[in-house]
Amino acid sequence: MGEDDIPAKYIARDPWGGWVMLRLDDGWCAALDRDTMRCTIYARRPGICRDYPMGDSDCIEVRALHLSPDQSRK
Ligand code: SF4
Repeated sequence: MGEDDIPAKYIARDPWGGWVMLRLDDGWCAALDRDTMRCTIYARRPGICRDYPMGDSDCIEVRALHLSPDQSRK
């Protein structure tokens, strides 16, 4: 996570000792608001999230796989 300033409660160690975003039991990021599907730490989100282009083909594909039709329109 380098210079990122993530709230500690959303950070975990991966099996290789790296710092990563904490995932809940279902695999989703702990910082995601499930009702709005928005990032609760948007201003402090990690660099990788800032670099990931919202709405690109990968994003659309994952949303289609995991969200109901009502949620995917949010
Ligand atoms: S933008 Fe990053 S930190 Fe925020 S909810 Fe999505 S994966 Fe988690």
